[in-house]
Amino acid sequence: MNDMSDIAVPTKDEERDIVTQKTRKCLLCGTQFASEWAGERVCKKCKATAAWRQG
Ligand SMILES: [Zn+2]
Repeated sequence: MNDMSDIAVPTKDEERDIVTQKTRKCLLCGTQFASEWAGERVCKKCKATAAWRQG
């Protein structure tokens, strides 16, 4: 019998922001930063520039 349940299948969770704090890459400047919440894709620096707007 071929029991392959031992193999760890890599799940694609990168798209899903389940983890609250996760190191992400800023969409604007590309700098890696720790996103405080799921969905935050822009670093604080870029946010401060007011160049980032929701929508
Ligand atoms: Zn940035």
